[in-house]
Amino acid sequence: MDITTPAESCNTEVSILRKAVAVERKARYADFQGKHWTFSKFMQHRAGQLCRRYPLDSKWSTIKALFQQYPNLDVATRISILQRVDELLSRESIDEELTKASVEASAQILSNDQSDDNAGNLTKHSSVERAGSFYNDYKKSALPFDSKHQNPAEVEVQFVKGVGPRMAVILQEMGIHSVADLLRHYPRRHLDFQNQLKINQLRPNMQATVLGTIKSVSAFETRQRNLGILKIVINDITGSIIVNRFVGGQSKSQLLHRYKASLPVGAMVLASGLVEQDRFSRRLILKNAELEVISETQGTAEIDSLHAGRLVPIYPLTEGIGLRYLRQIIHNALNTYACHQVDPLPEKICSKYNLVDRYTALQGIHFPDSVESKDRALKRLIFDELFAVQLLLACRRHKVDEQEGALALSVHEGHFIDRFRASLPFKLTSAQERVFREIARDLSMERPMQRLLQGDVGSGKTVVAVMTILVALENGYQGALMAPTEILAEQHYRQFQQWLTPLGLRCAILLGKQPVAQRKSILQGLLTGQIHVVIGTHALIQEPVEFKNLGLIIIDEQHRFGVMQRAKLKAKGQNPELLTMTATPIPRTLALAFHGDLDISEIDELPPGRKPIVTQVFKPSQKDKLWHLVIEELKKRHQAYIVFPLIEESEALAAKAATAEYEKLKVGAFKDFKLGLMHGKLKSQEKDEVMDEFRKGEYQVLVATTVVEVGVDVPNATVMVIEDAERFGLAQLHQLRGRVGRGCDQSYCFLVSNMRSEGIRQRLEILTNTNDGFVIAQKDLELRGPGEFLGTKQSGLPDLLLADLGRDTKTLEEARQAAIELVKEDPELHNYPLLRQEFLQSRGGQNTDIIGSG
Ligand code: ADP
Ligand code: MG
Repeated sequence: MDITTPAESCNTEVSILRKAVAVERKARYADFQGKHWTFSKFMQHRAGQLCRRYPLDSKWSTIKALFQQYPNLDVATRISILQRVDELLSRESIDEELTKASVEASAQILSNDQSDDNAGNLTKHSSVERAGSFYNDYKKSALPFDSKHQNPAEVEVQFVKGVGPRMAVILQEMGIHSVADLLRHYPRRHLDFQNQLKINQLRPNMQATVLGTIKSVSAFETRQRNLGILKIVINDITGSIIVNRFVGGQSKSQLLHRYKASLPVGAMVLASGLVEQDRFSRRLILKNAELEVISETQGTAEIDSLHAGRLVPIYPLTEGIGLRYLRQIIHNALNTYACHQVDPLPEKICSKYNLVDRYTALQGIHFPDSVESKDRALKRLIFDELFAVQLLLACRRHKVDEQEGALALSVHEGHFIDRFRASLPFKLTSAQERVFREIARDLSMERPMQRLLQGDVGSGKTVVAVMTILVALENGYQGALMAPTEILAEQHYRQFQQWLTPLGLRCAILLGKQPVAQRKSILQGLLTGQIHVVIGTHALIQEPVEFKNLGLIIIDEQHRFGVMQRAKLKAKGQNPELLTMTATPIPRTLALAFHGDLDISEIDELPPGRKPIVTQVFKPSQKDKLWHLVIEELKKRHQAYIVFPLIEESEALAAKAATAEYEKLKVGAFKDFKLGLMHGKLKSQEKDEVMDEFRKGEYQVLVATTVVEVGVDVPNATVMVIEDAERFGLAQLHQLRGRVGRGCDQSYCFLVSNMRSEGIRQRLEILTNTNDGFVIAQKDLELRGPGEFLGTKQSGLPDLLLADLGRDTKTLEEARQAAIELVKEDPELHNYPLLRQEFLQSRGGQNTDIIGSG
C-alpha cells in the first residue's frame, strides 16, 4: 500500500536531498575522486522524479538542470550550485504547517503499521538520518559492488582492508583520500636487508643491517645544539653493538618517554646504518641508524616477507600511523585494487618505450624484489607523471592546430623586410637568421604559429620580433606586442617607431593611464586599421580594444603573463599567429615540460663585439672601494645603475629604501654627479621623464628598484650595482646584469652581499663565473627546484612525486613523443577511454594552468 501523503513525501525528499548535499559538502565537493558522478546523478534522478510528481513546482526542474553539468564544473561553481539548491530547498520547508502535519501523519502511519509506540521518535532528525541512508544505498547501488573493477581513484581509502573510517581520518590528514592516493604514497627509500650481517661480521665504515634483540635503551643530552642521542644496545648470537640515533630538540626525559614504548627491551629489531668505531672504547657503533621493530617479543619470530623482504619500503609517516601498518594496507590495496586494474597506457607505448605495466610498477615501487625491479618501476611511474602533462599539452596543441581559418602568410622577403634590413647598422647574427627562418616557416603554414623565442639578454630578440611583425603587415594584417611593464613598452615603442616610421607604418602605444583623447584616437585607429602596430601593457587586453584585423601577437617576457591574459589577447584577432619571447631562458627539459605545446626557437649567440661583463661580489663593508670603482667609470662618461631589491613583495617599501639611499648618495659618495631616482611608485609620466633623462645622459647614476629589471636598453650604462644581491634569484640577477654590456665598452656588475651563508656564496659565484643565461638557468633550477624557479605565475606544475625535471630528461622526451604520436593518431582519444579518464578528465581541472599557447 502507498502510505505516504504528498506532503510527507515531499518533505522527506527535501530531507534526502539536503542530506545528500551535506554528504557532498563533507566530501569537499567531491574533489576529483569521481564521486560527484554518483552525487549529481542521484540529485538529477531524484529531482527528475519530483518533476514528474509535482509538475507545477518549478524548483524541481531547476534543481535537475543545475546538476546536469555539475561533474564538469570547477569547485567554486559547484559550491554556488549547492548554495542555490539550499535556497530552493529551504523555501519548501518554511511551510511549517505542512511539515508538522506530515510528521504527525507519518507518525500515525508508522505506529499503525508497526503497532509500536515509538512514534514519538520519528522526529525530523530521524527522517534526515533515513535520508542519509537512502543516499548511501543509492551510492552503493550506483557503484559496482565488485571492488576489483573499481577505479582506485574513485574508491575512498577507508574501504581498503585494514583501514576503516577511523584510520581513514588520519590518512586523510596525510593527503590520502582515495585508494589511488594510498598507492601513490611512495616510499622515501628502501632498506636493503640483503646485506644483513651478523654483529661479529661488522667492520668500520660498512653500511650494514643487523637483526638483533633490544638489550637496553637509554638517552643522552648533548650540550651543543640541543641534540638528543638515543642509545640502544642490541645483540644477536655473535655479539652486541650500540645503535645510535640522533633526535633534534628534545630533552632526555622527553626522548626516553617517546621512544621507550616503541622500542621495548626484548623486541626483535632490524637496524641499518653506518658502522663506526668509537674513539675511546674502540667498540663498534651503528651510527644514526634506521630502526625497524620486527616483532615485539623475543625469539625467532616468523618474519613475514612484507616487512623483512630484501628491500623494505620506508614511508613518510605521521602521528598515529606506523610503518608496519602502512606497509600492510598498501599491500592490501595493491592486491585488492591495483592488480585488477587495466593498464590505461596502450600496450604499444609500453613496448616501444620499454615500460613495465602499471601494476608491476606499483608493486615494484613498494615491494621490489630487486634493485632492478625497483628501477623499472620507477621508470614507468615517472613516465606516467610526465606523460600526463605531455598528453594534455599535445591535446591542447592539436586543438589550436585544427582551428579553422588559420592564416597562411606569404613570406617573400618583400619590400618592408628588405628595407628594414638595409636600414640596420649591423648584420643579423646567424642565430637571428636561423630563428627568423623558423618563424617564417610557421607563418607560411596554414595553422597558427605557436612559438617561444628564447634568447639571452641582449641577444637581439627585438629585431627578430620586428621582422616577424613586418611579415604580418606585408600581408595586410595588424600586429600587437604586449610587454609586462610600462618602461619596457615605452622602450619598444620608441624602437619600433624609429624602425617602422621610415617604412610608412604607424605604431601606437597603449598604456593603463593615458589622456582620454589620445586613447580614443588610438582605439579608433586600431579599429579602422590606420594603426598598423600597437605596443602596450595589460591595457591591450582590456574590453574596448578592438582591431580591424589582428594577425600577429608578440608577447615579450612571456613568463610574466598568465595563460588567461594571453588567451584574451589572442581572442582579439581571428586565430592570430603567436610569438612569445623570453630573456629568462629555461633549460630545455623545463621548456618541454611547460611549453610542450609551443615550438621553441633559441637565439644562442650574442651579437659580435660584446665583451663579457665582469662580475664581482662585495661585502657591505667594502662599499667605499665599490663606490670608488663606480666613480672611475662615471669619470669615463659612462653611466651606472644602483638597484634595490623588492622588500617582502612590496614595491612601496622597496621604493622607500631606494629613496633613502638616493638621498644619502646624492650628498655622499656621488655628490659630484647627477643622480636619478626610479621606482614603481612614481607616476608613469615621471618614470618616463627619469628614464629619458638617464637615456640622454643627464643623469649619470640611476638609483632604482627592480622596475629596471627587464628590457631597459641604455648602451652607455656600464655599471650595475645590485644591493642585497642574495635576495634575488639567479635568473633575476642575470636579467639585471643584462642592463649593462649592451654597447661596446667593458661593463661591470657589482653584487653587494654579506654572504651570510655558504649557499649564498655558491649561488653568487655562479654569476661571477659565467655570463651564459642558459647555464645560469640550469644551475638555478638545480638549486631551487622548478616551482621556485619559475615563480608564481607558472607554478601550475602538476604533482611530480617521482619525476625530477633536472634528471629525467630522456623520459620526458619519450613521454612527449609518445603523447604527440598518440594524439596524432586519435586526437580525441576515443580508442583510449581509460587514458582519457585518468589523464585528461581528472587532471584537466588541476592542470589548466600549465602554460599553454593561450
Ligand atoms: P634582447 O634580446 O635583450 O631583447 P635587444 O633586441 O634589445 O636584445 O638587442 C640588444 C641590443 O643589441 C640592441 O641595442 C640591438 O640594437 C643590438 N643588436 C641586435 N642585433 C644585433 C646584431 N645582429 N648585431 C649587433 N647589434 C645587434
Ligand atoms: Mg628585449
